[in-house]
Amino acid sequence: MSYSHIETIRNLAYLLASVLFIFGLKGLTHPRTAVRGMQMGALGMFVAVLATVMAGGILSWTWVVVGLLIGSIVGALMAIKIPLTDIPQMVALFNGFGGAASFLVAGSELVLRISAGSSGAETGGASQTVAGTGFPISALVAIAASGMIGSLTLFGSMIASGKLHEVSFSWGGKKVWMSNPMLLPGRHAITGVCFAACLVVCALVMLNPGTSAWYWVLIVLAAIFGILITIPIGGADMPVVIALLNSYSGLAACATGFVINNTVLIIAGALVGASGLILTNIMCKAMNRSLAAVMFATMGEVAGDGPSADDVYEGKVKATSAEELAMLFDGARRIVIVPGYGMAVSQAQHAVRDLANLLESRGADVEFAIHPVAGRMPGHMNVLLAEADISYDKLKEMDEINPTLETVDVGLVVGANDVVNPVARTDPSSPIAGMPIIDIDKCRTVVVIKRSLSPGFAGIPNPLFAADNTLMLFSDGKQAFVDLISAVKES
Ligand code: NDP
Repeated sequence: MSYSHIETIRNLAYLLASVLFIFGLKGLTHPRTAVRGMQMGALGMFVAVLATVMAGGILSWTWVVVGLLIGSIVGALMAIKIPLTDIPQMVALFNGFGGAASFLVAGSELVLRISAGSSGAETGGASQTVAGTGFPISALVAIAASGMIGSLTLFGSMIASGKLHEVSFSWGGKKVWMSNPMLLPGRHAITGVCFAACLVVCALVMLNPGTSAWYWVLIVLAAIFGILITIPIGGADMPVVIALLNSYSGLAACATGFVINNTVLIIAGALVGASGLILTNIMCKAMNRSLAAVMFATMGEVAGDGPSADDVYEGKVKATSAEELAMLFDGARRIVIVPGYGMAVSQAQHAVRDLANLLESRGADVEFAIHPVAGRMPGHMNVLLAEADISYDKLKEMDEINPTLETVDVGLVVGANDVVNPVARTDPSSPIAGMPIIDIDKCRTVVVIKRSLSPGFAGIPNPLFAADNTLMLFSDGKQAFVDLISAVKES
């Protein structure tokens, strides 16, 4: 087959892959079509990889197979070993790996072009070249963009992953939790200088296409920049950062697509970049943060230390038992369950469904109130509840259910903390100030199921647990529901 035929077939396959990506994304917009959407996206990726590999001219088959084997084994092991609650950290790492792949491909292309000489023979088809080098201007801009965005995405994502994994280390004899904001003195000035240095080195990469040295300097500087913009961001604000880093990984891939003149990479990268930005916007609204505050990493700034746990809880917390709650449910007409991260940790979703069905069979109306950032990843609660076959029309978005909560007899919180913390409404100096929350405190009686009075991801006490109308059931989430089910059956 002639080269032009191979090119045509490859381009048609790329077109098919791009269409599959777009319909796949469309499918992901609704839980009912999400699985099909995922399958379409995966098929699109398979077509794209196959077309790229079959068109040849990359590496010998031996290296392609070696790469495929290593990647598949590592991927399969990660998928099998990692528990559902650790998926967000893994997604953060995947974003980072996307950034790394992008800057490594762009870097190797630069090195290849330099070693092939500046004849202009392999310049990706662009006609306008930097004087005397044969490099098209567009390729140089794309190489610099890929290097900078790819490297900051890799290192920013590694920090984000560490924060989500709640990694800690010793520093000056003290234990430091990565999830807490790390606020360096003069950090805005340091970050600003680092950003300016990155831009200067981007210009040097473009002005000196005969050497790759500036490119690797750019990688190091962008890595420092990525770390600097991520370490000050604390606890509750991580969802926005993850969505933004996801978008950056797409932009890096898109830039690399321009470097190697690969259309499917440009389209897939642009789709990830754009959908990541839309997700960032949704997350910003859910956290009541502005995108500017995210971009300039001013989110970690917390005014004041806030009250201690002792001040909030001392002498005010009322513990309860499954038997006592069974009596409470007996007289309840309307019950709203608020799932949170603890439900995911204890894998309580099936037991939660069983209790909801049991209560409904006894005449109660049971709904679920879903906060957009409950858990550790976007859509976390929807995924878990769908896995337990809980009907979609029982899941109510925060904005829909909040105005009705005053008419609810029992608000049952399972493993949620920050997303029901009323200080978001009342304390402007709190790290979660202004974040819209589920107003479960407005229900007639609130029951909170968790193991202790430990804080949630944002690391702050929750006055809901000490409120007059709140009862605490101290237990593992799943165990609590198993106990509740038998107590209700016996009542
Ligand atoms: P939180 O992190 O605020 O609280 C979770 C609670 O679950 C803890 O207080 C813990 O209390 C309890 N818990 C843990 N294990 C168990 C268990 N086995 N059984 C019962 N309870 C348990 O969770 P929320 O869902 O309320 O809020 C999500 C937080 O995560 C927000 O701060 C959000 O910003 C952040 N986040 C969200 C992301 C997203 O995209 N959705 C991404 C990154 C972060 P105890 O130890 O006492 O049991």
